[in-house]
Amino acid sequence: MYLILLGAPGSGKGTQAEKLSKHLGIPHISTGDILRNNPDPRIQAILNAGKFVSDNEMIELVTNRLKQEKNGWILDGFPRTLTQADSLKAYHAQVLYFKIDDEVVKKRLSLRRTCSNCKAIYHLETKPPTNNSICDLCGGLLIQRNDDKAEVIESRLQIYHEKTAPLIAYYKKEGSLIEIPSSGTAEETYNTIIELI
Ligand code: ADP
Ligand code: AMP
Repeated sequence: MYLILLGAPGSGKGTQAEKLSKHLGIPHISTGDILRNNPDPRIQAILNAGKFVSDNEMIELVTNRLKQEKNGWILDGFPRTLTQADSLKAYHAQVLYFKIDDEVVKKRLSLRRTCSNCKAIYHLETKPPTNNSICDLCGGLLIQRNDDKAEVIESRLQIYHEKTAPLIAYYKKEGSLIEIPSSGTAEETYNTIIELI
């Protein structure tokens, strides 16, 4: 099974991808996580500013990564542009579109915390860790991503609407889009996905 998770930053893609990966037994591939692990200061500066890494670099990265997977995948964070989407055409993937309002997303992003070690995702209100800033799963330190600061959130959402939102119509036309209402709880969203895929 090939699944593309499409939606605004903070719409819940990473949260659902983790659950789906366990349920379906296929890997969760997050381009954001891969890039955050890249020590190149040029890449880190792009991420901190909330801008996009170039299509050429992203397509090369993802094409090579997907070649290693024979039994399917869940892609989270790619494609983000029409050019990136064209590079995946041959897979005929199902696309889950996480539909949600910007205001909800802004609140989620400002309270998101991420484990610096295992990348587990928390939220200070809806999914708080048991111990303040320590990961329940691995004991790693929880951090706020640089791009989850208020001023970067605004510009990431603007870039999302300009460059990524056109993919909704693109996949609708292809007949591969499944719309997932995403402003409910994580459990409600997960149950909807399981019903629809
Ligand atoms: P994305 O991968 O799309 O950027 P995340 O999965 O990281 O989004 O979720 C963003 C934030 O919102 C995280 O702090 C996460 O814990 C929280 N979150 C995810 N899904 C829900 C939900 N359905 N209800 C409330 N909070 C959520
Ligand atoms: P994410 O973890 O999906 O929110 O991605 C974090 C950041 O990584 C984005 O804001 C971009 O700077 C970069 N990034 C991730 N995926 C892509 C992509 N497909 N194309 C361009 N940049 C990306």
